[in-house]
Amino acid sequence: MSDVSLLSRSAADVAADIAAGRLATDAALNASLQAYAATDAGPSGLNAVLYSDADSARASLQSLSLGNGTSTDARPLAGIPVAIKDNIATLSMPTSCGSKILDGYVSPFEATVIAKLRAAGALMPMKTNMDEFAMGSSTENSAFGATKHPMDHTRVPGGSSGGSAAVVAAGVTRIALGSETGGSVRQPAAFCGIVGVKPTYGRVSRHGLVAFASSLDQVGVFGQTVDDAALGLQVIAGADALDSTTVDVPVSDYRASRDNAAAQPLAGVVVGRPVEYFPDSLDPRMRELLDRSADRLRALGAEVRDVSLPHTALAIPVYYIVAPAEASSNLARFDGVRYGLRVEGDGLRGMYEATRSQGFGPEVTRRILLGTYVLSAGYYDAYYKRAMAVRRLIAADFTKVFASGVHVLLTPTTPTTAFKAGSKTDPYEMYMSDIFTATANLAGVPAMSQPIGRIDGLPVGGQLLASHFDEATMFRVAYALERALGSEAHA
Ligand code: GLN
Repeated sequence: MSDVSLLSRSAADVAADIAAGRLATDAALNASLQAYAATDAGPSGLNAVLYSDADSARASLQSLSLGNGTSTDARPLAGIPVAIKDNIATLSMPTSCGSKILDGYVSPFEATVIAKLRAAGALMPMKTNMDEFAMGSSTENSAFGATKHPMDHTRVPGGSSGGSAAVVAAGVTRIALGSETGGSVRQPAAFCGIVGVKPTYGRVSRHGLVAFASSLDQVGVFGQTVDDAALGLQVIAGADALDSTTVDVPVSDYRASRDNAAAQPLAGVVVGRPVEYFPDSLDPRMRELLDRSADRLRALGAEVRDVSLPHTALAIPVYYIVAPAEASSNLARFDGVRYGLRVEGDGLRGMYEATRSQGFGPEVTRRILLGTYVLSAGYYDAYYKRAMAVRRLIAADFTKVFASGVHVLLTPTTPTTAFKAGSKTDPYEMYMSDIFTATANLAGVPAMSQPIGRIDGLPVGGQLLASHFDEATMFRVAYALERALGSEAHA
């Protein structure tokens, strides 16, 4: 028998009970598997999970020998199930990136983040649905069917990490991993009413994360609360010899301020409100929720001031040149020779053509064509080189604002709440979902989304951004805001 109510307690508390032997080592796993069976499978389910493997989760439980007073310093995630996005390499389950071209493909090695989670005592019983190769904002681009929003099945959970967001929002796991290239953790977190974090570029190893756009990609973390997300990031952060783009900056204690109940925990903190993220067209109800959050931050001792990031409007055009350019090169490896699907054709070239045209879905094909175009002779200078120059201006906007004494920025995470499935048929409209999130990926700064209220019953996310490697201050503000909002965050 399992006790699903365990899932209403924080991952840290449950791990502490498991480590100390107060709870059976498989208690949290059983609760998750039961919640999964009740919410995900079948035509009325969410379709958030692509693969599940309870047996290997149980086997790793054996090898961990938890309980008997294990220290949570060594095993901060003792016995805690963590759902994994399907583009992060695992040994016991396939890594298909939501694509037919990798259907059933099992990686011969595992990602650094997976090894770190296991060492911390976590169990990984499921891989989650996603937009194919992480290209999309709704999880409708999965080759294995769309994922549904847990609160309203006619809506999307966001994307591309929609499966991970949905399992956390539905209470199947407290923590999940996703990936971020332009907003794929923060946007679904906002839509689903949970917390989602994109770390600083270089904070978390990309070894074993299937590459989309290497200069933008980061593994990110979902949590039901700020503390769940902080704990997850704490475990996976740090330099890695297997990823030369990680940076050896010490990992601070992201959970340091979790119990700070002081009246003014944010005294001395300066919060910037970038005016470009509050356009006239912003839904007034969303503006009100952001104003309420800013008021709370002021009451906690923070100074809130308006700032400007003048190149913000250029982020989407720049992102949709840089990301497809890198994707066209990264996805060249899926040619029917080394990985996954092979479709025979006329000679070698015919085999390439047949494999790639049958293996990739329409959005991935569009990006490869776009990316190849902007990198081709004659267009490289006009598009790619210019985009790279503007990317530097976007990054410089952030550097300037943070150098002026601002510690964190507060913005909406998305321009709208979760939209109806099938409602965005024009790719450009879908791309505009990332208007407030892609900037952080282009600049490399850390950012997160947390629930700050609802519109028509649907969750709204507030985004916090901080300077490079200052996740600690971002979490400090996030904990304080979560505490100050209390149940208003979900009302
Ligand atoms: N929605 C964006 C895209 O389609 C971002 C995706 C992501 O962050 N992986 O590219």
